[in-house]
Amino acid sequence: MSAPPTDSANPSKLADSRDSSDRRPSEKISLRGISHWYRDPRSAKLVHAVESFDLTVADREFISIVGPSGCGKTTLLSMISGLIRPSRGAVDVDGTPVDGLRPGLMGYMFARDSLLPWRKVAKNIRLGLEFDKRDIDRDRRVEELVATVGLTGFEDHYPDQLSHGMRQRVALARTLAGDPEVLLMDEPFGALDAQTRTLMQEEFVRIWEAHQKTVVFVTHDIDEALALSDRVIVMSARPGRLQAEYVIEFPRPRNIEELHGTPEFQALRRRIWHELRNQVEHGS
Ligand code: ADP
Ligand code: MG
Repeated sequence: MSAPPTDSANPSKLADSRDSSDRRPSEKISLRGISHWYRDPRSAKLVHAVESFDLTVADREFISIVGPSGCGKTTLLSMISGLIRPSRGAVDVDGTPVDGLRPGLMGYMFARDSLLPWRKVAKNIRLGLEFDKRDIDRDRRVEELVATVGLTGFEDHYPDQLSHGMRQRVALARTLAGDPEVLLMDEPFGALDAQTRTLMQEEFVRIWEAHQKTVVFVTHDIDEALALSDRVIVMSARPGRLQAEYVIEFPRPRNIEELHGTPEFQALRRRIWHELRNQVEHGS
């Protein structure tokens, strides 16, 4: 069962958005007619990863992308970040075509933290300020970030002295450090145990509610997508297309534990699960 088409799935509206003078002021990210092929390094065959993908993300919107494994979610994030260029179509951020990485504008966080093991917590977080040109007190900023992610007292620990959840907090602080306008998150809590994951979600939603950045959040966890987002995008099996989208209107601030128990949450969860299962079972 698909949600009714919205603007971002409407080709005529998308054609309008090609003219940047028509751009709605709130439009932060726009993907237009994105298709992507990789060349498999072993067989040299082309892998069709993403097909005709259109998506507009509003400024300060929190969207999640769910979809079967290998459907092109990471590929989409890489194209928004400027890490890879789509084979076809265009990506704009703030109405400007993405042409290479812009670390001050966009922060990227992965499932596996990429902390430097020889640097203490504070110094790992400070790495996130490397591209920050603002004239700020960096020690103070690092201290604030440590507090934001609940790691006060652990500033002088090395990553291998921390639990996985704590390392993800450090990675989150580093991603937030330069105050990027856009956060691209690739299953950031996916490798955590269930309790730690819920805690991280609660903290992240609190941080987002306070700072309201534009977030594109990839996850395989429907509950996570529903609890955090303003909108959930379901992708088809590879080649990934936009299969359905759901506007999530649970009031904020959100209490994730309470939200999970509501009938509205359960109903949406079932709909999205059904959609996703169709893709996993019959999509490819
Ligand atoms: P997801 O994040 O949804 O699991 P990906 O975006 O990582 O999916 O990958 C989409 C498809 O493209 C997969 O079939 C994957 O194997 C393939 N792929 C991803 N990166 C490369 C690459 N660098 N070279 C060749 N194929 C790739
Ligand atoms: Mg991925």
